[in-house]
Amino acid sequence: MALKQLRKILTASLIVVSSPLLANQADDAKFAIAIHGGAGTIEKSRMTPEKERAYRAKLEEAINAGYTILEKGGASLDAVVAAINVLEDSPLFNAGKGAVYTYEGAHELDASIMDGRNRQAGAVAGVKRIANPINLARMVMEDSPFVMLSGAGAESFAESRGVPLVDNKLFDTDERRQQLDKAKEKLDRENRQDKDYRAAVESLPVPFRMGTVGAVALDKAGNLAAGTSTGGMTAKRYGRIGDAPVIGAGTFADNRSCAVSATGHGEYFIRYNVAADICARVQYQGKSISDAADEVINGVLLPVGGTGGVIVLDVNGNIALTFNTKGMYRGSRTSNSPVNVAIFGDN
Ligand code: ASP
Repeated sequence: MALKQLRKILTASLIVVSSPLLANQADDAKFAIAIHGGAGTIEKSRMTPEKERAYRAKLEEAINAGYTILEKGGASLDAVVAAINVLEDSPLFNAGKGAVYTYEGAHELDASIMDGRNRQAGAVAGVKRIANPINLARMVMEDSPFVMLSGAGAESFAESRGVPLVDNKLFDTDERRQQLDKAKEKLDRENRQDKDYRAAVESLPVPFRMGTVGAVALDKAGNLAAGTSTGGMTAKRYGRIGDAPVIGAGTFADNRSCAVSATGHGEYFIRYNVAADICARVQYQGKSISDAADEVINGVLLPVGGTGGVIVLDVNGNIALTFNTKGMYRGSRTSNSPVNVAIFGDN
């Protein structure tokens, strides 16, 4: 039986998929990039062929934007930013244009980036007027003495560095507005938005709270980098901040272990320190990245109700794209394997 066919059968028989089609395909890669565009209830039956094509094309464009930089000998940090910019600028994903709405009907964006060479990191949280939050996170890392800036302060920092502030409406899309209306209707109907916000948010269907974007890259110099950018969760309020800008939760990179970008229900990823936990298992227990990711995503998070996924890359160019949801927009390309994009559990 052809290997591909066998893998397909194995994949179809798993409820929780650890992306066997894409994992560990580049053991001797000199450089590599992997991206995600959010995890959740993504099913073929619920998607039109046009939409699926649009998602696949945009994922491929993002991978190639990063890959081109790596191929020319560019830095993994540059590749991560380039790939994320493509997804931030696309209305298809919950980051930048297309970000979800807060309860009040605005957009508050979070992003972070980490350099595997030295554990330098930068993050922004709750910014409303930054077109590409991942770029600002990088500026925080490279051009400030801080790691995380938030809200109006982060925007003043941006202005002081010559970054133009944009109108929050730039991020509007009809689809996300409809999601907010539905979410509010449900929250208001159950009258729980204030009394028991956690239960109310957790009772929202999964698509209302997912769609983050992220990238991990390994450059020819052997350096890892990771970045994540998001609009957070639909109908979030009170200045809620998720895992995406939290180093160790949504983003982590260290050349001694791995690079991780996460997507999913942020509160769980923060409490379980997901990205750092995966890399700690690699560094201190000698686990492979796919075992470490599987242990944390399926072994730790799933039993407590934490849904989502991660993309993980190590210095040898091994890639793990692991999730405990029905699907995750994802893809990769390495110096010895072609561009590969997947959406559903079985590709
Ligand atoms: N992790 C993000 C958050 O909780 C959401 C997502 O990944 O879609 O803000």
